Amino acid sequence: MAQAGKVWTAAELFTRNVGTKEDQDTAFPPHKIIGNLYYVGTRSLGSFLIVTPQGNILINSDYERTVPVIKQSVEKLGFKFTDIKILLGSHAHGDHMEGDALAQELSGAQVMAMAEDIPALQTMRTPSGKARPSYKVIHDGEKVTLGGTTLVAHLTPGHTRGCTTWTVSIEDGGRSYNVVIIGSVGVNAGTKLINNPQVPQIAEEYQRSFRILRGLKCDVPLGSHPAMYNLAEKYPKLGKGPNPFIDPQGYKTELDIQETAFNAVLDEQKKAANERK
Ligand SMILES: [Zn+2]
Repeated sequence: MAQAGKVWTAAELFTRNVGTKEDQDTAFPPHKIIGNLYYVGTRSLGSFLIVTPQGNILINSDYERTVPVIKQSVEKLGFKFTDIKILLGSHAHGDHMEGDALAQELSGAQVMAMAEDIPALQTMRTPSGKARPSYKVIHDGEKVTLGGTTLVAHLTPGHTRGCTTWTVSIEDGGRSYNVVIIGSVGVNAGTKLINNPQVPQIAEEYQRSFRILRGLKCDVPLGSHPAMYNLAEKYPKLGKGPNPFIDPQGYKTELDIQETAFNAVLDEQKKAANERK
């Protein structure tokens, strides 16, 4: 891999993940990832569609302005936006869940979110001025089942209080694959990992999330931003040999990259705090 061995800083990872405004707003070619799981997101915002005989599940509405882009990708694959029965999200940041109200309006889906993210979701700004949707509250470990596919919500806090990593077992070619959609373990600029008055235990929350993520079985790593699983590198290999999205080692590598970046920020902030003493 081109980036092997590179040590990423948290700031570089943020840029890698979020991309430019054009990356956020431009559809990535929609495609089947594996089995009944499809990619319907943009170049830098991960949105996933699970298709079942009883209707579909969408994970991440993204920005309100990107909802029409996602809708178009869903339709390009031959599915109906109104067949989305359940809308889930990665975490309470605008680039993943700002569009929940519009996506719900256009699909009629039930919208669900992790309890710990509800306060942030309800105070999130919706650019059109639409009211925030009313969320069905889910909790750590809760299962969401539709048409024979079951997702499990794992609370992986730190990045937000209710940051959610979704796991799902997907059947393909007679076997099943463990899919992990990482919520995020990135440290955004300005995040206080120590002496944080709002979340005093934030560093421990991140550390706990890394432990949880490392404990998950993963054949197919995905993430709230496709750069977390090198979509741009994998996509051209699709259909030319083994499924490029089956990448258990890539999952471990991404966690190593993210945890190294987290630890560097933590060390830096600890040092700065000690110097102030
Ligand atoms: Zn975020």
